[in-house]
Amino acid sequence: MTRINRLVMKGFKSFANKTELIFGDRFNCILGPNGSGKSNVLDALCFVLGKSSVKGMRAEKAANLIYNGGKRKSGSKEGMVSIAFDNKSKIFGADIGAEVEITRIVRPSGQSIYKINNKTRTRQQILDLLSRARINPDGYNIILQGDIIKFVEMHPVE
Ligand code: ATP
Ligand code: MG
Repeated sequence: MTRINRLVMKGFKSFANKTELIFGDRFNCILGPNGSGKSNVLDALCFVLGKSSVKGMRAEKAANLIYNGGKRKSGSKEGMVSIAFDNKSKIFGADIGAEVEITRIVRPSGQSIYKINNKTRTRQQILDLLSRARINPDGYNIILQGDIIKFVEMHPVE
C-alpha cells in the first residue's frame, strides 16, 4: 500500500499561490463553500497522475488549467502540481527512497513536463511508476462526478 502524504498546487486552476495540502493517515475530507476549489483539488490529483483528457479535468484546453488571474489579477506563467506518495513499503521500488514525488507542469502552449523526485521524466515513465502501486489516472482509483450516473444509465449488456 501507499498513501498520499501531500499535494502541492501552484498556478493550477484557482490556486494562484503555492498551496500545500497535507493528508492525514486515515480518512481525509475536503470541505468548502461552492466555487472554493474542492473539485479543482481533484482535478489537480488527476492532472499530476498524468490524466490525458483535459475535458475530464473540466477544461476546454490544457492552457485553461493554468491560473487565469480572474477578473483583476494577471495569470500564472505555468501550472504546477506535485504529489508525494509514501514509499515506506517500497511499493514503488527499493531504489527510490521513502517518498516518491511526482510533478507535472503545464505551459501555455499546452505542453506538459513531468518529473519524478525533481528529475525530468516522460509521461510513460510516470505511468509505469504509478502502475507499480496499481494507480491509473484513467482507472477507478478516482470516481469522478458523472461516473456513477454513467453506470446507472448503462444498458445491461454494457
Ligand atoms: P462546488 O461546491 O460548487 O462543486 P467547488 O468547491 O468544487 O464548488 P471548483 O469547481 O473546484 O469549486 O472551483 C470553481 C472555481 O475555480 C471557479 O470560481 C472558477 O472560476 C475557478 N477556476 C477554474 N479554472 C480556473 C483558472 N484556470 N484560473 C482561475 N480560476 C479558475
Ligand atoms: Mg465541485
